[in-house]
Amino acid sequence: MKYLIILYTVCISVVPIYNSQAANPGDDKRNSMIDIQETSERLKAHLQALTVTIGERSVRLPENLEKTVEYIQAFYKDIKLGAHIEPYDYQHLKVANVVAEISSGSNPSHRYLVGAHYDSVAGTVGADDNASAVAVQLETARNLKELIDREELDVAVTFVSFALEEPPVYGTRYMGSRVYAKKARKEEEKIDGMICLEMVGYACYEPGCQKYPFPLGFLGYPKEGNFIGIVGNFKSGEFTKALITEFQKNIELPVIKLTVPFNGWIIPSVRLSDHASFWDQGYKAVMVTDSAFFRNPNYHTPADTMEKLDYRFMAELVESLLIFFKSRSR
Ligand SMILES: [Zn+2]
Repeated sequence: MKYLIILYTVCISVVPIYNSQAANPGDDKRNSMIDIQETSERLKAHLQALTVTIGERSVRLPENLEKTVEYIQAFYKDIKLGAHIEPYDYQHLKVANVVAEISSGSNPSHRYLVGAHYDSVAGTVGADDNASAVAVQLETARNLKELIDREELDVAVTFVSFALEEPPVYGTRYMGSRVYAKKARKEEEKIDGMICLEMVGYACYEPGCQKYPFPLGFLGYPKEGNFIGIVGNFKSGEFTKALITEFQKNIELPVIKLTVPFNGWIIPSVRLSDHASFWDQGYKAVMVTDSAFFRNPNYHTPADTMEKLDYRFMAELVESLLIFFKSRSR
């Protein structure tokens, strides 16, 4: 993720939507859709595999990009979910997006895409950016598959792990998300909303640990970094609203909404991550994020490692996503 600061400065007209009354963690009266403790442990195991066993996942170590693809494919095989890779060329390299689909019924009314880039900045193992998002993506797939095996839902979700998002590929047509979105448009793939997971593993609870550029800090945004942010454009307004409404039902994970005008084109560097590739093809898309360097001091440094992440926070995001997908069937 790049240059989030400019994004926030164009969002100053937006009033925060924030559910601050988090319940006591571990409240046993809570009726969650997933096993939070077990999911936390599974998320941690993904971080171990991606950031320690594999390590840096940048274009300067293409063998590690390949290992990551193999890891993701092996995961889907393990949960008995069909997946395929969509390879493409970047300079002399062969890289690939990994695609898996969960569908309920033969012609579900709602089709969503959950995307996350799996590469990291050169010289970093990218725990928050963006192994956290891949881990949440995989555990969302696991839990959604289990849910659909148990009950009939009227929804299909495609999970795409994107090859390249970070520099030097960032902003070029070789980004995995651009390759995918362009093909989706050409093949008239129906996507009612794309959810881009971008840095979703870092939380902080000391008042003042969450930073904002002037003047957002004066507009009533929370001082603690315990929330998840949702960034949408105007076209995605209805989709963003639906997500926020459902996410707010998870009182363990506060949520904040930001809306970007003009697809971010007024200042090109607001375009940030893989959601912009879908905006450009006319799809509705949002970015779900912990707000990157406004919270995480280890952003794009070798200190972005797995022990700094909050696995319960990540598990709650899996829960919120499950609540949203289930709600689409009503
Ligand atoms: Zn990123």
